[in-house]
Amino acid sequence: MQTAISEPVTSTSNAAGKYGRIKNFIDGQFTGSAATRSIPVISPLDGALLAEMPCSSAADLDAAVRSARTAFPRWSRTPIKERVQVFFRYKYLLEKNLQELAALVSEENGKTMGEAIAEIEKCIELTEFATSLPQLVTGEVLEVSKGVECRTEHAAVGVVASIVPFNFPAMVPNWTIPNALALGNCMILKPSEKVPLSVTRIALLLKEAGLPDGVLNIVNGDREIVEAICDHPGIEAVSFVGSTKIAKIVYQRSTSHFKRCLALGGAKNHLLVLPDAKPDMTAQNVAASMSGCAGQRCMAASAMVAVGDVDAIIDKICAEARKIVPGTNLGAVIDKAAKERITRYITEAEEQGAKILVDGRGATVPGKENGTYIGPTVIDQVTPDMAIAKDEVFGPVISILHVNTLDEALAIENASPYGNAASVFTQNGSYARYVIDHASAGMVGINVGVPVPREPFPFGGWNESKFGVGDITGKSSIEFWTRLKKSTVKWNPEAGTNWMS
Ligand code: NAD
Repeated sequence: MQTAISEPVTSTSNAAGKYGRIKNFIDGQFTGSAATRSIPVISPLDGALLAEMPCSSAADLDAAVRSARTAFPRWSRTPIKERVQVFFRYKYLLEKNLQELAALVSEENGKTMGEAIAEIEKCIELTEFATSLPQLVTGEVLEVSKGVECRTEHAAVGVVASIVPFNFPAMVPNWTIPNALALGNCMILKPSEKVPLSVTRIALLLKEAGLPDGVLNIVNGDREIVEAICDHPGIEAVSFVGSTKIAKIVYQRSTSHFKRCLALGGAKNHLLVLPDAKPDMTAQNVAASMSGCAGQRCMAASAMVAVGDVDAIIDKICAEARKIVPGTNLGAVIDKAAKERITRYITEAEEQGAKILVDGRGATVPGKENGTYIGPTVIDQVTPDMAIAKDEVFGPVISILHVNTLDEALAIENASPYGNAASVFTQNGSYARYVIDHASAGMVGINVGVPVPREPFPFGGWNESKFGVGDITGKSSIEFWTRLKKSTVKWNPEAGTNWMS
């Protein structure tokens, strides 16, 4: 694995860690950056220095945009049935390289190998959807008056950008790359500075699959390059996935330059547990939702609202949480700052009167003392005014709030400014339907702890979890990655004339 990553995509120097200094991917080549600053890439698993990531300059972005603009006319005019052949081959290469890619995801992000394998399997599913796009963009045609036809076609937008977060180093880039490119766009991808390695491997696989040079370009960097993307006149559309704070900045800045923008933000997801919920299934789902990927999923359960007496289920949740062991079936959080932030939230809640039922603070893994681990944490008697009840904690922590009615539970859920996911655990169909109708979230689960819609259903939240129109995956992503061309056609002059022709 090391050879595949370090040879073509980085310049190796021991001082820069196992994989050396990362290169950008511009015009189909791995190229050095004009960066004067760089950021170390640290493995959360054990604190090892993996690589050095250059903070690329505006000149690097210019080169990438030039390459993408040059590639665009030919790529966008290639028939979609030919374009998707690249993604059939890419899907096969993802399958072939699954273990290697998963190991890299785990190493740079800190998730367990099992979670990393599931992430690559999701990349495969996303790519499979992209190969079905020819069936979904057939357009419409109708004879609107004698001898006159109107038709619609989906045309590519142009050069688009995709700015991605740290928590899914391979999956979130694959939310955008296959669909946007299959639909004829060329892309500038800006990886997270915390996990820039997996996407370099993805670029190599796409090249091997036959993607023409310039169709995908990767520019590494941080805030400076994101701002340059929002401002660049050669980029027509910007997609962003990350925290709400930065989503707002990116949405405002790129739309101020009249670009289309879809910016997905953070989340605070509520699980409502009713007394008739199936105890074992509920406990397993709550524990898995709050601790999977160390709680660093935008769909993770963060607050559980206990409706009435569900104490027996809470006991089972604690029992499930105690089976989750850092370094074994629980990965690390991304860095020291994240570990400190999560620990602060728990301690502050405790000081304010919350009861820690399972305490993950201070977790360490023997032999990996420099890893950034935090154990599963279950906190009871949390009240809606506490910061831990309102903020996105982004760690393996569940806060339990108590109410007497379903409407009170929904009022807590509705009060959150976010709106990614909400779930209810119950055996009563009318309560379940009531939650679908009244939760203020884009994705609702019934007895499902992580209600991520699978392809072809789209992914996207509401409220401050998403800015812009449409969703980022599935069928509704077609609206974002294309624009409709409407043509009105008359070939037969003998057809006569009427009021419109
Ligand atoms: P982040 O907002 O810190 O970073 C996201 C991207 O923005 C990165 O590429 C980063 O380099 C860039 N960035 C960071 N600070 C910036 C600044 N000041 N100006 C311009 N660009 C900046 O997010 P993160 O910590 O990498 O990821 C975790 C967050 O992403 C969580 O809030 C999580 O909920 C969210 N997320 C949301 C979804 C969703 O579908 N809604 C999916 C995954 C992650």
